[in-house]
Amino acid sequence: MPELPEVEVVRRGLARWVAHRTVADAQVLHPRAVRRHVAGPDDFAHRLEGHRIGTPSRRGKYLWLPLEDTDQAVLAHLGMSGQLLVQPHEAPAEKHLRIRVRFADTLGTELRFVDQRTFGGLSLHETSPDGLPDVIAHIARDPLDPLFDDEAFHLALRRKRTTIKRALLDQSLISGVGNIYADEALWRARLHYERPTATLTRPRTTELLGHARDVMNAALAVGGTSFDSLYVNVNGESGYFDRTLDAYGREGMPCRRCATPIRRRPWMNRSSYFCPKCQRPPRITP
Ligand SMILES: [Zn+2]
Repeated sequence: MPELPEVEVVRRGLARWVAHRTVADAQVLHPRAVRRHVAGPDDFAHRLEGHRIGTPSRRGKYLWLPLEDTDQAVLAHLGMSGQLLVQPHEAPAEKHLRIRVRFADTLGTELRFVDQRTFGGLSLHETSPDGLPDVIAHIARDPLDPLFDDEAFHLALRRKRTTIKRALLDQSLISGVGNIYADEALWRARLHYERPTATLTRPRTTELLGHARDVMNAALAVGGTSFDSLYVNVNGESGYFDRTLDAYGREGMPCRRCATPIRRRPWMNRSSYFCPKCQRPPRITP
C-alpha cells in the first residue's frame, strides 16, 4: 500500500499536470474500478463531464480531485496496485487501464487510472464545508498538515487505554502513518510498539511526532524529485525504502545504533520490527 509520502508525490504530480483542466469525457473500461460509486459507471462518467478539476488535495493517504464550482470530489483509492498516470493521447492503452479521463484542451495528455489487481478505483462524493469528501470526514489530520494539533494528540494518547503503535495507525487520531513509518518513528524514538500511550510524557510525544515527520519528509524529499515527467506513478519505488530504513524489513540485521539484531514480531496481521535493546518492552500492560 502506498503511504503518505508516495501519495503526496502523486498529488504533486496531479497538481502539476491535471489541476484546472476541464474534463471532456470519462470512460470507465472496467466497472470494478468505480464500484464505490454506487450509481454506476455511466453516472460516474456523466458527472465528471464539463467540470474543471480543482487543486488536488490529500489527507493522510487519501487523495481527491475537487470538481470546481460543485460540492463534489473524485476520491482516488490506490489500493495495492492503483496508478494515476498522465499520458499522451497517442500512448498505447496500458494492459490494466481501467478509467480514462480526457480534457477539453490542447495539451495533448489524458489522465489514466491503471490497476492490475482492481482493489483500487475512483468514486465521486459530496464534500463537507471544509472540502473533504464525506466518506473521509472522520479521518484525522496527518502530522505533515500545518493544522495538526500536537497538544490535542498528546492529550488523546494520555486518555486512551491503547498502545503506541495502535494509536499511530488509528486514523481517527492521526492519519497517514502506516506500518513502515510507525516502525521507523518508534525505532528513532526508542519506543517499543506496545508501550501504553497513557505512559507517554509530553516531551516523548513531541519527540515521537518529530521523528514521524522526519521519516516522512525524508521519503518525500527522495520521491518528490522523481515525478519530473508526465509519468505519475505511485508504485515507482522512490529508492527511499531500500536505502534509509532503520527498522522495517531489517529482521536479523544489526541495529544501526547498537548492532543488536533487529527483531520481527507478528502484529495485527502485519509485522513489527524493533531493536530489542533500544526499544525495551513495557513493564506494564494497559
Ligand atoms: Zn538498538
